[in-house]
Amino acid sequence: MTALTASLLFILAAGILAYHRAKLIIWTIALTLLLIIITRMHGLTAGVIISWILFASVTLILNYLPWRRRLITSHILKIFRSDMPMMSKTEREAISAGTVTWEGDLFRGNPDWKKMMNLPAAKLTEEELAFMDGPVETLCGMINDWDITHNRADLPPEMWAFLKEQGFFGLIIPKRYGGKEFSAYAHSQVITKISGRSITVSSTVAVPNSLGPAELLLEYGTEEQKNYYLPRLASGEEVPCFALTSPDAGSDASSMTDYGIVCWGEYQGAKILGIRLNWNKRYITLAPIATVIGLAFKLYDPDHLLGDKTDVGITCSLIPRNTAGVKIGRRHFPLNTPFQNGPTQGKDVFIPLDWIIGGKEQAGNGWRMLMESLAGGRAITLPSTAVGGTKVLAYATGAYARIRRQFHVPIGNFEGIEEPLARIGTFTYICDAARSFVTSSINLGEKPAVASGIVKYHVTELGRIVTRDAMDIHGGKAICLGPNNYLGRGYESTPIGITVEGANILTRNLIIFGQGAMRCHPYIFNELKAAQLSNEKERMIKFDQLIFKHFGYGISNIVRTFTLGLTGARIVLVPRGKTSRYFQYASRFSAAFALLSDAAMIVMGGSLKRKESISARLGDILSYLYLVSAVLKHYHDQGRNVDDLPLVRYSCEHCFFEIQQRFDEILRNFPSRIAAFILRPIIFPLGMRFARPKDRYNRKISQLLTSPTSTRQRLCTGAYLSDNGNNPLADIQDALVKSIMAEPIEKMIRTATQDGDVAGYTPQEKLQHAVETKLITVDQYDICMQADAARRKVIAVDDFAPDELARLSTGEINKNHYAQQSE
Ligand SMILES: Cc1cc2nc3c(=O)[nH]c(=O)nc-3n(C[C@H](O)[C@H](O)[C@H](O)COP(=O)(O)OP(=O)(O)OC[C@H]3O[C@@H](n4cnc5c(N)ncnc54)[C@H](O)[C@@H]3O)c2cc1C
Repeated sequence: MTALTASLLFILAAGILAYHRAKLIIWTIALTLLLIIITRMHGLTAGVIISWILFASVTLILNYLPWRRRLITSHILKIFRSDMPMMSKTEREAISAGTVTWEGDLFRGNPDWKKMMNLPAAKLTEEELAFMDGPVETLCGMINDWDITHNRADLPPEMWAFLKEQGFFGLIIPKRYGGKEFSAYAHSQVITKISGRSITVSSTVAVPNSLGPAELLLEYGTEEQKNYYLPRLASGEEVPCFALTSPDAGSDASSMTDYGIVCWGEYQGAKILGIRLNWNKRYITLAPIATVIGLAFKLYDPDHLLGDKTDVGITCSLIPRNTAGVKIGRRHFPLNTPFQNGPTQGKDVFIPLDWIIGGKEQAGNGWRMLMESLAGGRAITLPSTAVGGTKVLAYATGAYARIRRQFHVPIGNFEGIEEPLARIGTFTYICDAARSFVTSSINLGEKPAVASGIVKYHVTELGRIVTRDAMDIHGGKAICLGPNNYLGRGYESTPIGITVEGANILTRNLIIFGQGAMRCHPYIFNELKAAQLSNEKERMIKFDQLIFKHFGYGISNIVRTFTLGLTGARIVLVPRGKTSRYFQYASRFSAAFALLSDAAMIVMGGSLKRKESISARLGDILSYLYLVSAVLKHYHDQGRNVDDLPLVRYSCEHCFFEIQQRFDEILRNFPSRIAAFILRPIIFPLGMRFARPKDRYNRKISQLLTSPTSTRQRLCTGAYLSDNGNNPLADIQDALVKSIMAEPIEKMIRTATQDGDVAGYTPQEKLQHAVETKLITVDQYDICMQADAARRKVIAVDDFAPDELARLSTGEINKNHYAQQSE
């Protein structure tokens, strides 16, 4: 064995140990054995002796803890403590909220795919299915969104009554309180189906079932509060809202100026200890009609009537609408989506202490409560609403692209239309997969804070792209509002989902990676905690243990990233099948992500929090890995239908391309140029080889959407498709089926026209001539006529009498005008 071979052997062994994240003791034993073998083969040459000296010095320092701590750890700890990000109490509570699920595995660079594939698939129980097929189906049939959004700016009274009677406001409330006790997935399915019909109705149903009184009471309420409120909320006797946002406190809700002072006051004729409240909230959904207001405010106890703290902290309480000093009832008008939403103010409102959710023991814990609830809830309402929209748009737009003809061909045949159509199909698939994946984890009792941020952000953003593409494909049909327009209101309301429950820019830039780094990284959060320990000895011991594990993790990530990049990740064991390469690519990028996120934290330290553009891109990489996982799991859970493969391939290739671009952008903008120079060849040893999905997928996916295929049916399952006489999706499906039947006959007539065998100026005249000349049969004539009628119904748009659209009559407008002039 030459010295070169021996060195290579040594490097190889170290590489294998690093790849498998071996413990320090295993490293020491394995490399000692290897050196013994080399020594026996070579004898004690100068090279071998130097190797022994170097090896012994390093292993001694690393394994003898007093030396290691003094020589290495103490210095790192000093730097670490001086560069630790400062965190406020509210920030700490926000970061600590919820649990970590699959995103944690992806963050750590070595995802266990078998574990993911074995996670239970999202499924409805018999009872939940019956609710979907019964009350939800009936409700969808009752909805006339134009009437709601244009005529009434509210749901009709019979719909309010139906929602309450059928328990729509108690989906998450346990049965013992009269609720439905549905799973997160069932809750999501309900919102998905309704939102495809009306965002106004789905928002109305969503709010009592999301962050608000019911959820907070369930988790933190006293028995008395639960027994009083939960049955009343489940039956709809009480209508709740939750007021957090104020004019000066939107995204940074914790900076609210709404406050309460602990003091003595009078309640029902008796002098009691309570809180005097003042607030000014806005944007509060259901507030105009709420009977009970969940309120978040800052509680102060200047006279120390509760304890020794003056600034008690953010507190949540329930306040009946009719309490003296409460002002409520006015409405906002959110983008022509008139669910009940409005401001509320309170002036010197005195409330008993036991109106605090959870009683006075929970005073000051409001922020933690809200963050915990949002950790899971963020994954349900808005993603489900967006998914409902994408399903309807995928179903309708595919059919429309076949029905609508220009230049004598269905517009879906143009490559220019195939491209957005493929995006619609693919993004709908990704959104549905992500929503199912995250809600199935909530079903298991998780509150996946980071994953819910990922799903909220990406599903609403993809939903926005799908909406835009669907509008473009429909052209003027989508623009002219009226009862026949099934896209306009959805398009108008898209920014609502983008803004609420954590506005998207903030979610992307601050939450996904910011919280992910703290919660999913195997060591950082604990290192921060260890570095803050007041006992010096304990601090050193804990920090030393963690930091050396962290070193091993970092070295392993370098080796894994480089090896997987070089081998195209073919060495990773993954589930076998047509998607196996996607699992391997995801493993490769997961390792590279673990490496790059560590490098970013080392280089930027606490300032990474302010480097939002880097943080956002790191968050994107984690998010796309999560979306790929969800897509692969969805494909598996739906029975690996090969027909769906174009959607799976496009989804994964889109995500991998985006991942690659984000790595590139981070490296280009990395503050340390040396670090970027070293990292690039480790992450991309063979260059950047991922491309955007190929054009051929556009055609394949368009074909899947422009015909009544099983893939289209699966993709749109969960949407309201029934023919109730007032469902544009049923009309469009009818037109699609009839058009497909008519297509070969119409082709025959076109050819005959070109040959001069059929005459006429309009298609109808040619058809008439064709049947008269017996080119086609009477049955074929009927098929074409029916297809034409069905098509005309779909492409029709609404028009109005000149005065019909004005909100005020001409007389009222003139009256206002003259009144203003005379003022
Ligand atoms: C229709 C509707 C219904 C709502 N329902 C309720 C409700 O029921 N209860 C309730 O309490 N609230 C509700 N809200 C409030 C909602 O949660 C807030 O609108 C949201 O938190 C954003 O606050 P803001 O609108 O004041 O935007 P701002 O906070 O002013 O944000 C403006 C922009 O700045 C971005 N931004 C802010 N900080 C950062 C940062 N650090 N980095 C990067 N970008 C940042 C945001 O992403 C956003 O794009 C509702 C809002 C609407 C519109």
